[in-house]
Amino acid sequence: MSDNTSRIRPFLIFAKKNIDTSSDMGRASSSVTIHDDCACPDDGFAPMPATLHPGDFFNKRFSLPQLHQEQLDDTHALLFNPHGQTGVVLLNQASLELLNQFQTPRTLTDAVLTNCDLPGGLAAAQQLVQLGLLQPEGLVPQPQRGQPQTLTAWLHVTNACNLRCPYCYLHKTPDQMELAHGRFAIEAIFRSATNNNFRRVKIKYAGGEATLNMKTVLALHRYAQELADLHELELTGVILSNGVAFSARIIEAIEQSGLRLMISLDGVGEVHDAQRHFANGAGSFAHVERTLDRLQVAGLTPTISITVTNRTLHGLADTVRYVLKRKLPFSLNFFRENECAAPVADLPFSEKTIIEAMEEAFAVIESDLPRHSLLGAIIDRARLDTLHDRPCGVGQNYLVIDQNGQVAKCQMEIEQPITDVRVHDPLAAVRADTIHLQNPSVDEKEGCRSCHWRYWCAGGCPALTYRATGRFDVKSPNCNIYKSLFPAVLRLEALRLLKYAV
Ligand code: SF4
Ligand code: SF4
Repeated sequence: MSDNTSRIRPFLIFAKKNIDTSSDMGRASSSVTIHDDCACPDDGFAPMPATLHPGDFFNKRFSLPQLHQEQLDDTHALLFNPHGQTGVVLLNQASLELLNQFQTPRTLTDAVLTNCDLPGGLAAAQQLVQLGLLQPEGLVPQPQRGQPQTLTAWLHVTNACNLRCPYCYLHKTPDQMELAHGRFAIEAIFRSATNNNFRRVKIKYAGGEATLNMKTVLALHRYAQELADLHELELTGVILSNGVAFSARIIEAIEQSGLRLMISLDGVGEVHDAQRHFANGAGSFAHVERTLDRLQVAGLTPTISITVTNRTLHGLADTVRYVLKRKLPFSLNFFRENECAAPVADLPFSEKTIIEAMEEAFAVIESDLPRHSLLGAIIDRARLDTLHDRPCGVGQNYLVIDQNGQVAKCQMEIEQPITDVRVHDPLAAVRADTIHLQNPSVDEKEGCRSCHWRYWCAGGCPALTYRATGRFDVKSPNCNIYKSLFPAVLRLEALRLLKYAV
């Protein structure tokens, strides 16, 4: 008996936050927030859990949902339910055999007694249900849209920048956000947050280069914290920066303010310099590296945003190796074509070259797996860590406020405002707009409606899709790239779970 029992437990490893664990499950930490330059998708989209009563485990028949499955090694298989919230689950062979009993719908007791009459077998089958790997026969899972919890605002504290990156979408000017305008903007953000029942506010202090107006950033964040306390809302503030000018004083101020940091780094040495340079052409890598060293000494951990273009693809694996060695969380974001970058011929990539470079980068990750999950960060706008039906919060829970208090729907459309911070609820105007950038649900996108990956991919950036196709309601031009890489990302997650959770 004991041999058989140990064969079936421990058998499940997963990395999700909201699942009740029991003694024979492992759980790997995945709680690192990756900041990038887009609005997170709204967080009110979730699967409808099947309502189950204790007796159902004995009476109801269960079946297999549509699952992504891969045999990882001789003893472990990776399972992933694209309509569930659990994420990647690892099963050993005994558990997989048990799961496979449900190719034909049956009750849990029937499966355990007939084929797998082991102590612990029934509890194991119940856990397969709880993890979404089994579902009541006939259930068609349909995620539901609820109330989004987080209002994200891009605060464009300056339109100036000390770099001249070729893929930037901004027409830069020396204009800075004045403190008074910034306070109006903060008040408008909190009016929209309270008016629309958000529980959290996330402010991205951005530009241009946000640290060029650092005094204003710090003052505005203090004011935002006052309003958050007044309205009993959670507040997160993050500075989006190119990382070139961080004096000891700035680092100390950031440390005291509680602000988070996202720094752009597109390569190591010359690869970064080829893409992120000063107006005089000099590269900025040495400056960024010095900042990373200083932040490390101060105990601050920035998120690294890596923008992948054709120009830097050959160095992508080394870039990933570099950030992993420094134990920095990072995201990989694909270059998005835009009007300013249109004349630069060597930025757009081909499907073949980016897939090959990403696979090379994934091999590097496999050799140095981080403790935190990468599910939400390494394939552009896709997030395999949380179900969502839109790739970002545009038109839902996102405000972009420029240095003059004009409000747009996306930072890439910052020069096409639709309202300003004087209106009572700028988010209401953003939600009502039907003229500018539209962000339909993935279920409305041609080519996506029946896609296995749709609630993890959500169809890609609508601004990019519109530029490429003239439509918002079609699949992303990066679709083939995403589909080819998703299984590899799940595999990396499974390997990470194996490494840290057993
Ligand atoms: S863009 Fe492609 S991978 Fe993404 S949801 Fe649409 S069809 Fe699926
Ligand atoms: S529309 Fe595209 S660029 Fe704008 S926030 Fe969404 S994903 Fe980002």
